[in-house]
This record gives sequence, C-alpha cells and structure tokens, in this order.
Amino acid sequence: MSAGDRPTAGRPGGAEERRRVVVLGATGSIGDSTLDVVGRHPDRYSVVALAAHRQWEKLAALCRRHRPRWAALLDIDAAGRLERELAGSGLPTRVLAGAEGLSAVAALDEADTVVAAIVGAAGLGPTLAAARAGKRILLANKEALVIGGGAFMRAVAAGGATLLPVDSEHNAVFQCLPAGYAGRPREAGVRRILLTASGGPFRERPLAELPRATPDEACAHPNWVMGRKISVDSATMMNKGLEVIEAHWLFGVPAAAIEVVIHPQSVIHSLVEYVDGSVLAQLGNPDMRTPIAQVLAFPDRIDAGVTALDLARAGPLTFAPPEHARFPCLRLAYDALAAGGSAPAVLNAANEVAVAAFLEGRIGFTAIAATCADVLDAVPAVAVDTLDDALAADAAARAVTRGRVGLAPVAVPEGR
Ligand code: NAD
Ligand code: MG
Repeated sequence: MSAGDRPTAGRPGGAEERRRVVVLGATGSIGDSTLDVVGRHPDRYSVVALAAHRQWEKLAALCRRHRPRWAALLDIDAAGRLERELAGSGLPTRVLAGAEGLSAVAALDEADTVVAAIVGAAGLGPTLAAARAGKRILLANKEALVIGGGAFMRAVAAGGATLLPVDSEHNAVFQCLPAGYAGRPREAGVRRILLTASGGPFRERPLAELPRATPDEACAHPNWVMGRKISVDSATMMNKGLEVIEAHWLFGVPAAAIEVVIHPQSVIHSLVEYVDGSVLAQLGNPDMRTPIAQVLAFPDRIDAGVTALDLARAGPLTFAPPEHARFPCLRLAYDALAAGGSAPAVLNAANEVAVAAFLEGRIGFTAIAATCADVLDAVPAVAVDTLDDALAADAAARAVTRGRVGLAPVAVPEGR
C-alpha cells in the first residue's frame, strides 16, 4: 500500500495544522458520510474542494455548508448553473468544469487529503491525478484500482502518494494488520485474508425468481445504505468480486490467500488469519462513517457519530461459504484476476454497462452476470503495462457490452 501505513502527518492541532480535504464524489453516499464526519471536527479538517458529476443544486448546498475554495462538476452545463447560483453569494468558491476540472481539484497544492468517492471507472482519472500529486488518498473508488491494478499502484508509489482504504472490508483488514505491514502482510505472518459479505438482498430468494428481480429490490440492501450501482453489485456479489481484486492490489496478496465468507449480520467487516492460528477481526455497526473516520484521522481516532455496537442486541453472528450458483459474478472476478492483464478492466467495464442497463430496465437481473461472462469471453485479455492500456481495454469492453445490451456501441458518460 505504498506509504499507506506509514503516516507522515502528526496529530493535527491548531487551525494551521488542519488537514485540507478534497472530496471527489461529494454528492454521493460516501460523500455524504465523509462530509458528516468532517463537519463534526472543524478543528481538524477544512474542506478545500468538492467535486461531482452534475448535481449542481446539491453541490451548491454543500458549498454553502462547507465553504470550499473550489467546486468542480464534470457536466459543463451543470457547472455553469452552479457558477451562476454561487455568484454574489459571498462564498469563496470558484467553479471548475469537465474532466480537467475534476483532475485539477484532485491535485491542488493547497490540499493534502483526497477522498476518492466517484463511482465507477470515471473515478480513475481524478484519483490518478491525486496519486501523481502525492496526496493522501482515502480510496472508496474500488473500480479505479480494479481497472488500473499494478499500473495504478506504481503511479501511487512514483507520486509519493499514500493510499488508505475506505471500503469497509479493506479498512477492516488494514486495522487488523500490524503498523507498517499493510503492503506486505506475508512478512507479518499473515496466512489469509477473509473478506466478509452480507449476501445482499437475494441471499435466500429462490433461484428461479432471480431473473424477475427488480432494480428497487436489488437496491434494498439489508444492512447498508449505499449508491445504486454498488447496491446492485452487492446483490450480484460482483461487489465482493471487485473487492477480492482490490485486496489483491492493496495488500499484495495472491487470490489464493483471499477468501470470501458470507456473514449476513454485517457486524464483522473482515478478518486476517495469521500463521500461528490467530484470527483478528474488526467489528462495528454497518456505517461507512467508521472506516471514513479511521482513515481521515489515522493514526489517531476521532468520533464518527456512529452508535456504539451492542453485541448482545446484534444477536448470533453466522457464517457460511458463498453459493457460487447464486453468485456467478464472484467466480468471474476470481477468473479475471487469474487471467490477469486487462481481464479485470474488461470485467469491470462489462459490469458497469450491464448494471446501468439493468437499472434502466433493459436487461434482467441474472443477465448482468451472463453479460459479464459473455464479454470476458469475447474480449481477450491482453497485457497491461500502462494505464492507457487499461483504459483501452475498458473502452473496448464497454463498446462490446453496449452491443450486448441493445445500445449503440458509442461510449457516453455514465453516473449521475
Ligand atoms: P453514489 O452513486 O452514491 O455517488 C457517486 C458520486 O460520484 C456522486 O457524487 C456522483 O456525482 C459522482 N459521479 C458519478 N459519475 C461521475 C462521473 N462520471 N464523473 C464525476 N463524478 C461522478 O456512489 P457511492 O455509493 O457513494 O459509491 C462511491 C464509490 O465508493 C464507489 O466506487 C463504491 O464502490 C465505493 N464504495 C461505496 C460504499 C458505500 O457504502 N456507498 C462502500 C464501499 C465502497
Ligand atoms: Mg465493501
């Protein structure tokens, strides 16, 4: 994890020592949780920039609340609306637009911490800009790592950036590793990483009913409140598959040492097994403010506004192996990781297009996995030496998948 577990900043104290934070994906679920935690600690954090896709009204409200120096929207028209909305408001906020605007705020000299919480492949460019600028990156955007893989990790190292995991499972693993060993857990005596998965809303649904599952049912996660794309990924368990790939790159462990275990209560967020038989786990209520606060303050601890875990009320904690017939996406992710090269980028792109098509009512729920399998077969894996290679694979897979789901193969920006 590069310097991820070797903090360079000491304990922030006075106003001039506050961490200066950029939030990419500020209008989303992780953006909300981040700004909630940051807003509880004005003595520790100042918000320097907020960025999103096109929700200019929500971003305007966030600018009024957090008074950032910069705001950026990918959508040029929405950025214009935001600029007009903020004109004459007395706020210090300047508005930037387009992909360049997002990458510019991710690399600002005046910021030290970048929360990477854009959903999907769209997050890769700005997160990479933060890596090249040597920022402390709090990574929620797992797709960037799945697509970029080794090339992304090399960019982090070359830029002198620090990568800290927000994803609750990876954050749990990070917390269960000894300080300084996040990038080389084998040297700390780690045998396996166990990623927990709730099993999502369809864990017990008869398999014959899954083809008719609706977007709203897929997004009704039993334990977590999240954006719609990751909610569908949780229902198919593609999310866990992407997380296996994410863990491989973050912690430098082979797929064979990463196991997934179903744990429907979502109290244990993941575990680390050591060679002496010890297994360490991180527990907590399912609230993303906990991992966000942990990485924001690391190596300190701050109040995240999260209710204390009441184990007696949580009831029995249960565990089971994943059912591969129910969750074929999990196997696809292991297969893509084993194939290597561009295969994870192809899988991620196919999944993004297929999930968007499912949310639009174009394809059924079980067609998501079938489409991903089909595209993985149709687009052969090639070597990925640079991020451009990964982006080329992403574009090729997107075009093929769009054809499969009945859309013209022209790429259009996704998200909201
Ligand atoms: P969300 O849909 O709620 O929010 C997505 C954010 O990204 C919004 O601010 C949106 O404006 C922005 N965005 C979308 N498309 C964009 C584009 N093309 N360019 C720029 N900005 C764009 O998503 P979320 O649930 O907050 O998830 C964000 C990321 O965090 C995802 O990668 C997800 O896998 C990861 N993550 C989320 C959770 C969770 O609990 N929500 C947990 C772990 C990891
Ligand atoms: Mg997760």
